[in-house]
Amino acid sequence: MIVMKFGGTSVMDASAIERTAQIVKGRLQRRPMVVVSAMSRVTDALLAAGKAAGEGHREQALELAQGLRQRHHATAKELVSAAQYCELGPELEREFDGLDELLKGIAAVGELSPRSSDYVVSYGERLNSTIITEAYRARGIRSALVDARKVMITDAQHGKAIPQADEIAHRARNLVRPLLDDAQVPVMGGFIGATEQGVQTTIGRGGSDFSAALIGSGLDAEAIEIWTDVDGMMTTDPRICPEARRIRVISFEEAAELAYFGAKVLHPATVLPAVQKNIPVLVLNSLNPGNEGTLIVSRAPKSKSMFKAIAAKKRITIVEVVAARMLGAHGFLNAIFEVFDRHRCSIDVVATSEVSVSLTVDSNEALPAIAADLEKIADVKYAGRNAIVCMVGENIRETPQVAARVFTALGGINVRMISQGASEINITFVIGEDDVPEAMRRLHKAFFTEVDPEVFD
Ligand code: ADP
Ligand code: ASP
Ligand code: MG
Repeated sequence: MIVMKFGGTSVMDASAIERTAQIVKGRLQRRPMVVVSAMSRVTDALLAAGKAAGEGHREQALELAQGLRQRHHATAKELVSAAQYCELGPELEREFDGLDELLKGIAAVGELSPRSSDYVVSYGERLNSTIITEAYRARGIRSALVDARKVMITDAQHGKAIPQADEIAHRARNLVRPLLDDAQVPVMGGFIGATEQGVQTTIGRGGSDFSAALIGSGLDAEAIEIWTDVDGMMTTDPRICPEARRIRVISFEEAAELAYFGAKVLHPATVLPAVQKNIPVLVLNSLNPGNEGTLIVSRAPKSKSMFKAIAAKKRITIVEVVAARMLGAHGFLNAIFEVFDRHRCSIDVVATSEVSVSLTVDSNEALPAIAADLEKIADVKYAGRNAIVCMVGENIRETPQVAARVFTALGGINVRMISQGASEINITFVIGEDDVPEAMRRLHKAFFTEVDPEVFD
């Protein structure tokens, strides 16, 4: 079997969903299971509705829900037969009535808990998977809706719940495998799940890729296909740098680094379940289904160029910790990391000297509290609006003067921190957020000129 995951833009309206139906039809021999996102921008709208309700803006929240109600009805009507719509229409109505009640309740209390937020946001994937199941049926595909809350079991950390891979595999074998054995096409919403007790959760923004990988691993899929709106993983973000080229083959390790450091095309956790079972992951374009896309496997051919790709992660804060009195004393780093650990804040890049440590974090909500704790042992400064740029490639290991060449290419752009990863397949540095587009273009121009048909388009 294979898993086919369609992201928000691939299922954004009736014609996009129609395209996915044709793509699925072309792969029925391979016994696909389909994982779908909410329609594009729906998750944002639901989050905004929840937030508005939590701030007591009841009418604003209901208006957002009303917009979503109309969009889902219009899409459904275009996709299914009149007879199907007689059942689907009222079902959507019931769901949206439920959403309205929920938003009214949140507005009455004037507080949006993470648990309620997950409940609100789950409507996007639940509604879309319901519509898509019917749309596929109308096109002769024997589709069957799978309730993600019965399969994707997670812990209770709302907003970023951790999936329980063994339990998911167990449930997938019990609930999904029989459908596949009966030549049906299971359709499930990504991104959402539930605790063992049945409380709805979500696994983090962009998480449908991760859902697809977990299910694929649980069912020992032959391949996990991530269908999106670009031709695959590219040498850099094509929105910033139109010269970006498709990468034909990339290793799990390289893809994971890129995803973690900002290549939005793949959720960073996607690769892990695939690595564990050595399942190839393909990134494909639903707008250009004939294209080969990018193949992610354990061993990829080396590129002629030094790097395979460049990614950037914005909204990074640099924290500088200075403690002159720690000169020569041991335990300084430990004391600092312990503070971040206590606040559950993860650190990306670290640079140290004898008495100071610079490090980066990507969330700043906890920073005031962290700084207060750190100030007991050191002086602390922090500065936001930075970005991590990560250049990835397995050739870095063997190439001398990598950093020198990168900095030459950057010209006068100010580099605030630098680290060459222990994995030796990346070089990472921190620049101001506003410098990102220019830096990406300069780097791309400097390092991706060579013709290399085995690796790039
Ligand atoms: P989906 O809705 O299918 O999950 P996403 O918006 O999450 O799609 O990811 C696709 C987008 O990722 C692309 O439209 C592209 O702008 C962006 N992107 C960023 N970096 C890269 C990269 N290196 N290769 C391809 N796409 C990238
Ligand atoms: N719909 C969710 C989001 O927008 C999950 C996903 O699309 O991967 O983050
Ligand atoms: Mg995505």
